[in-house]
Amino acid sequence: MKAAVCYAYDQPLSVEEVRLDPPQRGEVRVRIAAVAVCHSDVHRIRGDWKGRLPIVMGHEAAGVVELVGQGVRGVQVGDRVAVSLLRSCGRCAQCLSGAPHLCEGEFAIGRESRLHTMDDVDLLHGLNTAAFAEAVVVDQSQVVRVPDALPLDRAALLACGILTGVGAVINTARVRPGANVVVIGTGGVGLNAIQGAVIAGANQIVALDILEHKLATAREFGATATINAAGEDAAERVRGLTGGRGADHVLVTVGSTQAIAQGLSLLRAGGTLTIVGLPQRDALAQFSPYDLVARGQRIQGSFMGSGRLAIDVPWLADLYLQGRLKIDELITGRYSLDQINAAIESMERGEALRNVIVF
Ligand SMILES: [Zn+2]
Ligand SMILES: [Zn+2]
Repeated sequence: MKAAVCYAYDQPLSVEEVRLDPPQRGEVRVRIAAVAVCHSDVHRIRGDWKGRLPIVMGHEAAGVVELVGQGVRGVQVGDRVAVSLLRSCGRCAQCLSGAPHLCEGEFAIGRESRLHTMDDVDLLHGLNTAAFAEAVVVDQSQVVRVPDALPLDRAALLACGILTGVGAVINTARVRPGANVVVIGTGGVGLNAIQGAVIAGANQIVALDILEHKLATAREFGATATINAAGEDAAERVRGLTGGRGADHVLVTVGSTQAIAQGLSLLRAGGTLTIVGLPQRDALAQFSPYDLVARGQRIQGSFMGSGRLAIDVPWLADLYLQGRLKIDELITGRYSLDQINAAIESMERGEALRNVIVF
């Protein structure tokens, strides 16, 4: 089978024949139908996060189960599934307390590779997955069945980009009906946070960005007001929209420490700032602990929308089929695996919300 391998940073991926072992105990092999190019893939491929090579990235995928290892329950050969980087053991303290996205369990893939070059060099499973390939072997907890009516290129987006944005609002921030919400950044995750705020029944849903065409898209996704931070005083606008109080929730979906500081300036007393976008690993943000205490505010991080795949993916799939969740509009371009470098470059130029590799 073919995979797109990263051998060196700043070089195009090499699309070539590789060898994939059969699934071991608790693992499944999925024939990939579609895999989206996510910013996390690009960061790793370009060396922003360093780490070992060679690696096969790709973690936002969907396909059909073609082999199951011993002890696999819940999925069968022929099932259509979304594939996620999230994996959970179901037995550790995090899993048992309802936070499987923070699972502390151990998994064979990671210590060992199921993926090798034809010269027998082990390839790393990028983000536990390695889905820039015609097939993957992953832990059974990483796959979840999707409805027959849901096309697999749409299903691919559910278990990462959409879950990260919608889940940050619903699972992590627990936005209540009537809350006033500000979303900073209107890329893929930001638009999904806006959709999440609509689903939560928020009152004001204020999108903040610096590009007019992105703010127009934010309105299509449900923003009730937009602020162009390049020319407007964001704090004054947000106060004007919230009876002078500030936002109940601010979600920062861009990986910028300045955006975090700006987010705090938009928050009401007692409000919550949720950080969703990943800044550089060594970045430090500044804030006033005094203000935080005096105003009773909270800052929290949201990893993968605090997602629980078995609950959230079927729910999001149903929302799409009911016409209450936009996915089609998130897909900018479709590419073959051989065109993967073009798909990545288009994303880096800022042209795409999501480019999807289809097989
Ligand atoms: Zn992703
Ligand atoms: Zn666990």
